[in-house]
Amino acid sequence: MAADRTKFILDEDRIPRSWYNIAADLPTPAPPVLHPGTGQPIGPADLAPLFPMELIKQVVSQDREIEIPDPVRDAYALYRPSPLFRARRLEAALDTPAHIYYKYEGGSPSGSHKPNTALAQAYYNKAEGVTRLATETGAGQWGSALAFAGAMFGLEVKVFMVRSSYDQKPYRRVLMETYGASVVASPSPDTQYGRSVLAETPSHTGSLGLAISEAIEDTVSHPGTKYSLGSVFDFVLLHQTVIGQEAIEQMALAGEEPDVVIGCAGGGSNFAGLTFPFIGRGLRGGPKPRIIAAEPEAAPSLTKGVYRYDFGDTARMTPLVKMHTLGHDFIPEPIHAGGLRYHGMSPLVSMLKEQGLIEARAVHQRASFEVGVQFARAEGILPAPEPTHAIKVAIDEAMEARAEGRPRVILFNLCGHGHFDLSAYERYLSGKLEDYEYPAEKVADALKALEGLPVG
Ligand SMILES: *Cc1c(COP(=O)(O)O)cnc(C)c1O
Repeated sequence: MAADRTKFILDEDRIPRSWYNIAADLPTPAPPVLHPGTGQPIGPADLAPLFPMELIKQVVSQDREIEIPDPVRDAYALYRPSPLFRARRLEAALDTPAHIYYKYEGGSPSGSHKPNTALAQAYYNKAEGVTRLATETGAGQWGSALAFAGAMFGLEVKVFMVRSSYDQKPYRRVLMETYGASVVASPSPDTQYGRSVLAETPSHTGSLGLAISEAIEDTVSHPGTKYSLGSVFDFVLLHQTVIGQEAIEQMALAGEEPDVVIGCAGGGSNFAGLTFPFIGRGLRGGPKPRIIAAEPEAAPSLTKGVYRYDFGDTARMTPLVKMHTLGHDFIPEPIHAGGLRYHGMSPLVSMLKEQGLIEARAVHQRASFEVGVQFARAEGILPAPEPTHAIKVAIDEAMEARAEGRPRVILFNLCGHGHFDLSAYERYLSGKLEDYEYPAEKVADALKALEGLPVG
């Protein structure tokens, strides 16, 4: 009786058997990643110090389907397939003719979509003899996911956690330590780069770009260690496509096709995970829903950034990637959606935006918490601050449908729960939420640092 169902559940044997590689369907290939020293396209050898070879192969693969190894599928079975919900109570509260669906990734052990790639990365590293992983974390979601994956596959995990989150979210740190990881606030005294930043600014609140620099330095200076990252890179987006593949099957169970598919975008991975399978289907001649990325006004790379080559980190250690960027020196205000606090965007998502295959909208922190509370009161699930940006766009779409008096089928990714974000909700509920506006001058300054870098 799809007509009055609230959730659409797939059996364990419907966990996808392969990841979907959008490179196979793209009208034009993504611009090459460039070596920061030579300005030439990088090859597998350049990435080998950081990543295991199987992951590097996935980045260059043109195969549409990349098989998911059995041990990864077995670990996915702890929480996949994830449920698809019809937001009937939210629809009623909005008095909208729209049908709103959400894919819920907050039921994973660490509370977000991030284990979808953490488990894959841990597995491939372990298989190639790596004993220790170094990484950064913003909101703590990625660190928790990798700590969990490290526990599943028997790897040590070292996490550089952005200072502002480290202070705002002590329980995220405790969760990582419970899984066996070691966690340090970034900038940290554990790396040369961290020490140099602390010497200049002892009270530095940190940033994702800075923490990436520390994790890379840690990787190259510790034998047996490789680097793991939770977003932006092509193979991360690839691993997340289990979300959209399941969602396509679940929407069919519901007997509907989405008119619009929405995800919040920090580095782009949960957005891509849900939307790429839909975009690919459209590129192969299937239905073409509108696709919208929701980002914060405080770090609006897709709506206000430039599309050109930039570094992924603050210390200019990563390769140069062509992406929407606010400049690698740009340090976003400490908004509570820590996972969206990044100066750049995945190169694949950026290219799709440039080609008009996706849209983007920026959401103010206040509006995002307003709808976070509204959603919790209607649907019961407390959303993480990041997906409240997607909820805001979904609600705007539903209200537009109401104004037009026409139905609209809306699907968004509820990519994490907010149980570790209660201090942020407390600030909102007590009227103390910070009012960060779009930092136009800071962005203009940061973009100046791109002069002299390849434009592409
Ligand atoms: C990490 C994270 C994000 C941002 O990362 P993306 O790669 O853009 O998905 C968004 N939401 C949650 C819950 C996260 O943990």
